[in-house]
Amino acid sequence: MTEAQILSPLVFQAGKSAAEVSFPAYDGPWGTCDFMTKECRKNCILKSNSMEREAVQFFEEHDARTVARELCAQLEEMGADTLCWFIGSGDCPRRLTAKVAEIVSLISETAFNQNGFTRNKSFWTLCYPLRRKVRLALTVEKSALSKFLLTSERHVGGLIAVPNYNNQTVSIRKIGKHAMAPRLVGCGGGWVDDFKMKSSSVTVEDCSLCALAKRGCYAT
Ligand code: SF4
Repeated sequence: MTEAQILSPLVFQAGKSAAEVSFPAYDGPWGTCDFMTKECRKNCILKSNSMEREAVQFFEEHDARTVARELCAQLEEMGADTLCWFIGSGDCPRRLTAKVAEIVSLISETAFNQNGFTRNKSFWTLCYPLRRKVRLALTVEKSALSKFLLTSERHVGGLIAVPNYNNQTVSIRKIGKHAMAPRLVGCGGGWVDDFKMKSSSVTVEDCSLCALAKRGCYAT
């Protein structure tokens, strides 16, 4: 994704009209990456900052309605139409699974689009029924993909993200009726490479434009 610019304790600018929630990375006292793998830990280049810590603290200290209201107010103030979850840093930690899922659900009742990435399967599963409005991809390592697909039949239409650490990109795929659609879209390194379109159109990554053009995570 594009480099995030800090605008407030809760949301960071991520593209022209999108904002993201970022939490601290890793598994330290403030870390939120409870589901990190050997592969992602080895390849991670993030450094925690105090703004991300303040964001997770706010989530911990306030109820879901208050956080959802505050997020919407900040998105409005920024002129953003899309809220991205954890595209830059951190994840939904185990302890906040139910609360963050409730926040996503409350925001899905508004006009804002939502998308993002998580390795927290329970969080992803709780958000799965909202998939028409919330395009949340479960990150699965390539080495774990076959095993994951064997147990994914009840998540038809859900998105998964498979990282490629060699070129710093992620391949976003949709789970299909029998297994999953072949490579559907790719995102990373500043572009969206949409293999769904026959001509393979390559465009600059921008979650709001993806929502508008029904490409990337929003491909139907
Ligand atoms: S494919 Fe589009 S919507 Fe999905 S993360 Fe990339 S830029 Fe955002």
